[in-house]
Formats: sequence, C-alpha cells, structure tokens
Amino acid sequence: MSTDRSAQDFAAFQLPSTILNALTDLGYEQPTPIQTKSIPLLLSGKSILGVAQTGTGKTAAFALPLLGRLDPELQAPQVIILAPTRELAIQVAEAFKSYAKYLDNFSVLPVYGGQDMRTQLRALKRGVQVVVGTPGRVLDHLDRKSLDLSNIRGVVLDEADEMLRMGFIDDVESILSNAPADCQYALFSATMPPTIRRVAERYLKDAEEVRISAKTSTVERISQHVLMVDNAHKLDALTRVLEVEPFDGMIIFVRTKSETVELSEKLQARGFTADALNGDQTQATRENTIARLKKGLLDIVVATDVAARGLDVERIGLVLNYDIPYDTESYVHRIGRTGRAGREGKAILFVTPKERRLLRDIESHTKQELQSYEAPSAEQISEQRIQQFNQNVLDTLESQNLEPVKKVVLEFIDNHEIGLEDAVAALAFQLQVEQPLFPVLKDLPQIDRSARFKKNQDGRGGNKRRGRGERGEDDIPMERYRLEVGRKHKVMPKDIVGAIANEADIDSRYIGHISIHENFTLVDLPTGMPPELLKHLQNVRIKQQPIKIAKDSKPFPGGKRGAPKRQRRK
Ligand code: AMP
Repeated sequence: MSTDRSAQDFAAFQLPSTILNALTDLGYEQPTPIQTKSIPLLLSGKSILGVAQTGTGKTAAFALPLLGRLDPELQAPQVIILAPTRELAIQVAEAFKSYAKYLDNFSVLPVYGGQDMRTQLRALKRGVQVVVGTPGRVLDHLDRKSLDLSNIRGVVLDEADEMLRMGFIDDVESILSNAPADCQYALFSATMPPTIRRVAERYLKDAEEVRISAKTSTVERISQHVLMVDNAHKLDALTRVLEVEPFDGMIIFVRTKSETVELSEKLQARGFTADALNGDQTQATRENTIARLKKGLLDIVVATDVAARGLDVERIGLVLNYDIPYDTESYVHRIGRTGRAGREGKAILFVTPKERRLLRDIESHTKQELQSYEAPSAEQISEQRIQQFNQNVLDTLESQNLEPVKKVVLEFIDNHEIGLEDAVAALAFQLQVEQPLFPVLKDLPQIDRSARFKKNQDGRGGNKRRGRGERGEDDIPMERYRLEVGRKHKVMPKDIVGAIANEADIDSRYIGHISIHENFTLVDLPTGMPPELLKHLQNVRIKQQPIKIAKDSKPFPGGKRGAPKRQRRK
C-alpha cells in the first residue's frame, strides 16, 4: 500500500534553528497533518480557523510559528492564548516552554482562576512574552491593568467550542475587543457551532480554514479494538496485551523517534524480541529490521508513521496503536499494515481520556465503532501462563531424553521423603519465577469511552447512557446539588461551570441545569460522583465564597422536580 502523503520535514518550514533543535530533542519526526497546514500560514502572518481536537498536534501547530515570529528583545506580552481550563492552560504553557528551550530570554506564564493572584501579578510585572490563560482570569488582569495587550501580535483561542460550552464566550469577546486591531489570530475548535463561526467572522477576517482530511478506505479484514487507558498505565496495559494476544509479527506505533527506542528497549528487557524503526536510522538499518521481521527473527517492531510507511509484511497479524494517530487517514494507513495478502488482522488502539474526541472522529469517519477491549486481568494472564506451561512440559516430554533426570528426581524424593506432587510443584514454581503462574496484578483503572468524571475515574456509577443530540452528549442520570453561593454574591452560571469543570474535572457537557437563587445555587451533576471528589469540591470557593456543595434533598423551589428549565449561561 502506498500513501499519497509525501514525507515532510520540519526543516522545510522557515522556523528558527533554535526551535528545530528543540523538536529534534523531543523526537518529533515529521509534522502532523494539522501542523503541515497551519505552520506555513501562521508563519506568513495569516490568521487561521483550525478544526482540530486534542491529540492532533494542534498545540505545536500554533506554538511553533508564533514562537518563530516572537521579538526576542521585547519582554512584554506578544502572544496570548485563551484556553477553557486551568489544566489546558498549564499544558499549553509547558508545551511552549519545551519548544522554546533554546530561545534566549523566553518567558511564558499560565494565568488561571484559583491560583494566587500575587504570584501572577509579580510575574506579569517582571515581563512575559507569552500568556496562556483562562478567560475569566485574563479579564481580571485586564481590569486591574496588570496585563497589557498593546504589544500583542498573536491571539489563539484554543478549544473554542469548549470555552463556548463553559459560558466563557462573552469574556473571550471582551478580551478580543481589547487586542490590537491588526493582530494575527488562530482559532482551534473540535467543532464549529454557529456562535464560534460568528466570533471567527467578526475577528478572524480573511482567516484560512484548516482541516485535516478525513479520507478513509475500508478495512474489512481487520478487527478493530479500543483500549481506554491513561498514560501512566500504557506500558502495563501493553505488556498484558502481549501476554495474552496470540500474534506472529506485530507492529506498535508511537509518536516520536525517541519513543520507538525507549519502548523497544523496555520490551527487550521484558523478554520480547523487539526493535525500533524510525526515520533517524540509516536505510540499511531499517531494511535489516524489516528483513528480520519478515524472517521471524524479530516479532515486534516499534515504529513511527514515517518509518512504517508502505511496510508490507505478511507476518504482521497485530497492529497496536500505543499512541493514537493524529488523524483518521493515518489510522487507516497504520492498521493497513496488518491483514496483508488476504490474511486476517487485528488492530488495537490505546486511547487516553483526553483523546476521546479523536476516537469518536476515527469512528465516525471509518463508519464503524471499534470494539471495546479490556486490559487483560491477572486471571486471564494466569490462564494463559498455565496453558503455556502445560505446553512446555508436554513439548519437553516429547523432545527430550529424560531418563537421567528422572533418576535424580526419584533419588531426591526418596532421600527427602517428599511426595512426587510436592516436588513437581516446587519445580514448576521455580521454572515460573519470572512469570508466576498466579501473578498478583492490580486491576487497571477503568476509563469510560465517553467522559463524565475525568479525574479519579474509578469505574463507579451507572452506565445507562444513550447517545443524545448532535453534540454527542450522553443521556446520563443526574442528581441535584446545592451550593452556598447565590445572586447576592454576584455569581453567574459561568462561574459555577468554570469552578466545577476545573476543580472536579467534570467535562462541562455533563454539568446540567443551573439555577441561581438569592443565597444559594442548585446544579445538576451526573450521579455517582466519587466521594473524594465531593470532598474536594466542598473546599472550593467561588467569588471568595466557600461553596460547601452538598446533595440537595429538598424539592426544587417553584416548580416540579426533574423538569427544570435550563437557565441560559451568560
Ligand atoms: P496536542 O494535540 O497538541 O495535544 O498534541 C498531542 C501530542 O502529540 C502531544 O503529546 C505532543 O507532544 C505530540 N506531538 C505534537 N506534534 C508532534 C509531532 N510532530 N511529532 C510527534 N509528536 C507530536
């Protein structure tokens, strides 16, 4: 199978060598599709409207060109990024730091609600070049005049649809209206609801729309599976999969060149014959690896997209996407490495909680739902090991002359007056010291394919959900909570959504009806909130007021319970 995407290289962009060097350190091999399209446009000073979600490489798509256009001499805010959550703001700031590690005097500051104002004020006073903030806190700084937008040349709205959902869009517009008129803009959004389009039309005049292609082809012979896993448990999940999945040859896809090396070394240390395949290697090395895979001298190849392009090895029965690909097209390319020559193939995709949307995208573009795949449990692994053990014993009985060994064993049990069964059990135990027949393994955290409680996910709570509506929300059971803040504290729905989404890490789509009263507020949240989360929320403050959240048992004031009108979030 050939690909219609020609190999690209970061070096082809007009990026400073300091930035290219940082990318080399990070092990980035080639730009992702959204980067290929966005970077030249932003470098040339154009504004862009990007339809892209987390996992596509969108952060680097705007960070790299904006860093490339920074004035290193000017210690004042030149670029501002608005992000819906504290978590994303920090993540984006970290990404900027890693790309700018060789830029002299570079400074970036995340600003978000909940963090001590004085720290932020001090940092802003010292002078920062890039500010990444949540809309509310950025507005606070504008009001206090602690943030000066007069030198801003680039404005990024990251996850614009999420900011809309969280009720931040008015704040975003106020900030935009304060930015210099000739600013360059980049707006990224996973979806393009009309309100976001309107904001784009108003501020991002002449912006180019950038989308990643959704070209696909059908792959019927390949059974496709998805395993939800957080980053911290990926290696564990992988080793379990490798133990129970029967495979001949296998290819594992990762994002970076460095990861191909790291992961293949980890697999080698665990006794697998694995090797790395990446674009840094010489042609000869790569050919040698592929030849060994073909001949069965090597079972696992850990590769990047570039290196595996066009790879055609019949032995590959399993493709494992350790890191999710950046778009559907490369997903289809990747899994097409199995099921060659009319054989059956299997593909397993690891998806972290943040990458759920990308998963949904892959499913909708390939028009099929991937089957859920649970990380193998200790029992399954035990079963597999016992089976393997039985087979090894039978093979040995068949292939070896055991007479002299038998004599040793018989003498041993005679001398020590031990039962034959005990002796055999002891030997079996010893044989399996590295791979105990009854391994003690913790279950991996369960992660739902659709988000609800993102943090402290423990698999609790009902699963009675059905897809609903065009926003892809889930029809999940809700229960009502009472917060001890109300109109008299000047609380607005967006404050409630912001605080709960940030502090409880509940996806804002799952924050239901909000009804603000004089002294208190009622809000509907999904049932089954883990107790530690509720405890954490109790200490959260909104408008300096501890919210003291608690389940509300009283009837809904002024109306029937269960069918409250949804108050518009302003
Ligand atoms: P994002 O969509 O911005 O959240 O990025 C998803 C992940 O991909 C992050 O972990 C990035 O570090 C990584 N990443 C972004 N661009 C590249 C690239 N060109 N090559 C390899 N990894 C990348």
